Amino acid sequence: MRLTVLASGSSGNAFLVSTSTTSILVDAGISAKRVACAITDAGEDASDLAAVFVTHEHSDHISGVGPVARRFNLPVHATRGTLRAINRRAGDGFTRVPIAPGEPLSVGDITVSPFSTSHDCADPVGYAFEADAARLVLATDLGVVGSAVRDQMARADCVVLEFNHDERMLVDGPYPWPLKQRIMSNVGHLSNETAARELARAADHPVSTVVLAHLSEENNKPRLAYEAAAAALEAAGRPDVAVLLASQKEPLGPIEITGRSDRKCTRSRSSERVTSDS
Ligand SMILES: [Zn+2]
Ligand SMILES: [Zn+2]
Repeated sequence: MRLTVLASGSSGNAFLVSTSTTSILVDAGISAKRVACAITDAGEDASDLAAVFVTHEHSDHISGVGPVARRFNLPVHATRGTLRAINRRAGDGFTRVPIAPGEPLSVGDITVSPFSTSHDCADPVGYAFEADAARLVLATDLGVVGSAVRDQMARADCVVLEFNHDERMLVDGPYPWPLKQRIMSNVGHLSNETAARELARAADHPVSTVVLAHLSEENNKPRLAYEAAAAALEAAGRPDVAVLLASQKEPLGPIEITGRSDRKCTRSRSSERVTSDS
């Protein structure tokens, strides 16, 4: 199974999960044209796209959902609350498929398991993807890491986790106080510090690759997120875990994810480059 981060950050998110026969797009907070270009640039095939899965209705996750679904003729999967919330903004011309946390489903050879997250919207979820004996967990936009997320991370070979902000940069930064409070709340976004603590917990388990995602351009720096994650993994006795940084502007991957019997995770071209930019 492969993961390509087409874009991730406060102004647009899209992820591609692929096997040799099936691709799933998770969120489309960038234009359909950018999704198509990023897929091609990553060496993946847009004709393998089988479905879109949406985490929640904030515009940095859904602004391109309608256009992408229509352009590639894809069904859009989301919780009932999210489908209601995106209803008008996404427009018509595609199939809507309601999903529920704790109820896995199959798309081609990929099993998708939605799980609840804590965020200020209708009914947000993260996703676990299982194929080729490997398991990928994607969890961004969460104010706290609850038991459902923790349980998913404990069983993952690769975790995409939100490292939204540096706490000091957020507090000292230009955002108005109510917005700072919202970001720091239990339904806001994960700080580097909190996310790093959660990684240290997950380090007892099989995880071999971590992708730091949804970094704020205003309240974070890739170097700070990377250092927080690397220090936590080092302290937890797992310096072997590969730490990669997702970017708002450039795709990351494809990242090859292998299962527990073979913990090695190979990274291809742009992932190496982005990591070294940190
Ligand atoms: Zn977001
Ligand atoms: Zn959000």
